[in-house]
Amino acid sequence: MLNVPSPAFPAPGSQQRAASGGRSKVPLKQGRSLMDWIRLTKSGKDLTGLKGRLIEVTEEELIKHNKKDDCWVCIRGLVYNVSPYMEYHPGGEDELMRAAGSDGTDLFDQVHRWVNYESMLKECLVGRMAVKPVVLAKENHEKKPLNGILLKSKVPDLPVKEISPSYDWFQTESLVTIVIYTKQKDMDSESVIVDYQDGCFRAEIVVNDYSYLLHTELSHEIQEDITARVTEKTGKVEIILKKKNNVSWKYLGHPLESHNSFTAHREKGAEIVKPYTPVLESLHSDLREPLHPHNKYIYVIIKIYHTGLFTPHFDCLQIGDYVSLSNPEGNFKKSQLQDLEELFLLAAGTGFTPMVKILNYALANITNLRKVKLMFFNKTEEDILWRNQLEQLADKERRFEVEFILSEPTCEWIGKQGRISLPLLSKFVKRSLENSRVLICICGPAPFTEQGIRLLKDLNFSQEEVHSFTA
Ligand code: NAP
Repeated sequence: MLNVPSPAFPAPGSQQRAASGGRSKVPLKQGRSLMDWIRLTKSGKDLTGLKGRLIEVTEEELIKHNKKDDCWVCIRGLVYNVSPYMEYHPGGEDELMRAAGSDGTDLFDQVHRWVNYESMLKECLVGRMAVKPVVLAKENHEKKPLNGILLKSKVPDLPVKEISPSYDWFQTESLVTIVIYTKQKDMDSESVIVDYQDGCFRAEIVVNDYSYLLHTELSHEIQEDITARVTEKTGKVEIILKKKNNVSWKYLGHPLESHNSFTAHREKGAEIVKPYTPVLESLHSDLREPLHPHNKYIYVIIKIYHTGLFTPHFDCLQIGDYVSLSNPEGNFKKSQLQDLEELFLLAAGTGFTPMVKILNYALANITNLRKVKLMFFNKTEEDILWRNQLEQLADKERRFEVEFILSEPTCEWIGKQGRISLPLLSKFVKRSLENSRVLICICGPAPFTEQGIRLLKDLNFSQEEVHSFTA
């Protein structure tokens, strides 16, 4: 229906050659070639008439769109407005009209199942068919859903597009609010990256291994301070833009490349990458998350290894130089801290960095928390990161305790020394009550972490009670 292969492909008898004898092409008007179509789809023109919105389409609605200049077709549960494509269709308009206002999945499969219609008609996507509740008829016969509409129970098999976030926007006199529905629990503001430059607005929402991108040249100017709010329970992201002039916007903007797309993170190539864990500005004394002006700052602790390959380059950076940052990675979820009574943090060297936010968040938000203990392994006293702040916090906050262990102490050191070991852990990581809900977080050089995990297992802590950070 969408494109006709050359007579040699697919091979005769191939599964892809479903219609025997092939089908005739109709002559296309000038400027209506495949390349012209691709150019049109990349032009940013609103091809659906919905200004980038995706909607749920009911059967009743689908049927209404059955004319050449208003033609919607459903293929495997996704609905496309194919009117703009009519003149580009090598099989002709009449052929395309056979599926107008209906489910064209069977017809499509008969003619050329192999065509990548998802990519070809990406900009014509209107939305998905509304899922109807399945009624069980008598004698256990399931009512067959309309071809192409998948039942909720089949959701894990759906293509990525089916589980992808969607967005909407609305405005008041002075604000424009973009709402993105990710349908993901446990989302937090660190998964939202917003940028505005030269009239182009870009919001990237990280959902597990995927990124949802809104990228658009806004129809009107906005002020620079953009606010993002995340409702953790539902995964709803609200991005609030302040209008520069109090005028009514007719549409959000012109979509730019990859606008409203949901794609898997690309494999990293040969470039050198190194993960760093963002920390806070400090271990704030009032134990509340410090307010970064407009969420514009990221704080990282970087240890320069003078004989290393990567960090000496960092050491040479000047103010005003650029580094590129990837999306956040990692699998720690705040929900692991919920209802916790005791939290143990085992850190070695810069393995302290993931503990900063956990410590801060747990003390400020987990009401049942009775104790947080940090066991911090370093070579020398000079290596202890944020020692003053940690000692001050331990003085102020009765639930927090810190212990420093050095592997290369000077003779003046009166604290504990050595490496991670069973005798050290068995004294330090102990439930204060038999049934206490505990979590132990561990991070440091890989062999340190591996050994720690083994020792904690020997001490009968379950897998769920131990979270290790690995680079
Ligand atoms: P370091 O100064 O070399 O070592 C810190 C402490 O760990 C020292 O007391 C050291 O003892 C001990 N240690 C090292 N290897 C050990 C082993 N095999 N068994 C027991 N103890 C051991 O550490 P660093 O240079 O800061 O490195 C920190 C590491 O943490 C890096 O590998 C980094 O990639 C990792 N990290 C991971 C994350 C994450 O999120 N996954 C975040 C931050 C850092 P000795 O003096 O005896 O060696």
